Amino acid sequence: MLIGVPKEIKNHEYRIGMTPAGVRELVAAGHDVIVQRDGGTAIGLTNEQYEAAGAKLIDTAEEIFASADMIVKVKEPQPNECRMLRPGQILFTYLHLAPDPEQTKLLVESDAVAIAYETVTDENRGLPLLAPMSEVAGRMAIQAGAHSLEKAQSGLGTLLGGVPGVAPAKVVVIGGGVVGINAARMAMGMGADVTILDRSLPRLKELDALYGPQLKTLYSSAESVEQEVVAADLVIGAVLIPGAAAPKLVTREMLTKMKDGAVLVDVAIDQGGCFETSRATTHQEPTYIVEDVVHYCVANMPGGVARTSTFALTNATLPFALALANKGYKQALRDDAHLANGLNVHRGTINYEAVAKDLGYDY
Ligand code: NAD
Repeated sequence: MLIGVPKEIKNHEYRIGMTPAGVRELVAAGHDVIVQRDGGTAIGLTNEQYEAAGAKLIDTAEEIFASADMIVKVKEPQPNECRMLRPGQILFTYLHLAPDPEQTKLLVESDAVAIAYETVTDENRGLPLLAPMSEVAGRMAIQAGAHSLEKAQSGLGTLLGGVPGVAPAKVVVIGGGVVGINAARMAMGMGADVTILDRSLPRLKELDALYGPQLKTLYSSAESVEQEVVAADLVIGAVLIPGAAAPKLVTREMLTKMKDGAVLVDVAIDQGGCFETSRATTHQEPTYIVEDVVHYCVANMPGGVARTSTFALTNATLPFALALANKGYKQALRDDAHLANGLNVHRGTINYEAVAKDLGYDY
């Protein structure tokens, strides 16, 4: 199969759909890979590395879309990319179609086969191609929070780990899923005093068994959230109710009782945020202040560490890309029901119930 990897064109997107190591595996399996020149240079993946791995470098996205059997990307295709897709061509990338009627219409019109990373499943009812980005965002949340606590960032001026003779900062993580546990691990690693809240008792038991007394676990209620948040130096919002907007667990009123200069990092901002006062920010201007509390609400945190995120994402996507290339999409989807759950648009029809329902297509 001929696999094409175009350079990402969305604003400030520096990730790329395949690393040189991924190219090498596909080439070893007998496939041809074409990669857009300079597609990875912003994150230190050079043209020479791609060539050494067996890729052919191509100057324009147009040439890649015109010849490849499968396009492997990161972000949803932009309108001009949708228009370049060909009938029967496979598109393997993040799509997030439900809130995006324009992209959905263009993909339906393209007659292509669009498989979305975010709806591929695994045997534990998880989302294996979303999890790597949650791992990145969870770990980064502590890095961002620690930085925001510094005086120059209008923070309280607290060091997460403290020093001998000085107590560490109190970090409260709301939501103990993939983001939450990665945040908690980083905070514990830096020596902070860490409490994690979740509504799932089985999950709290699991976290307790994994980390013991180093990690305090609490059942999440309005009462426990308020008590913890008011005492915290750094709060991480990491809740998710699948398919729904994030619940507003921290109110403006609670902020008035918090320490001046305390920091909120709302990782759940891509689902609307779990703090009443959250609004999405960018890597260029990541923070703002409400009621003397610093808010960090970057909606695409993994983009800030695009190199790590590229490796994390492609580690997870490569086995699926290989299966699609080796077997062709029909056989690959027949053989793997989890990969089949990724099929969102198939040759002019919507193949994913939630998207069809939300956007009024037949299913
Ligand atoms: P997850 O499903 O693994 O975990 C969510 C957890 O929240 C679950 O354990 C659930 O029990 C818990 N929860 C639900 N309601 C709760 C409540 N009221 N109180 C406490 N806990 C509650 O999800 P995840 O992968 O960890 O993702 C968390 C959020 O982070 C999602 O909104 C996701 O989209 C977002 N995210 C954002 C970025 C970014 O760049 N901002 C990147 C990755 C993920």
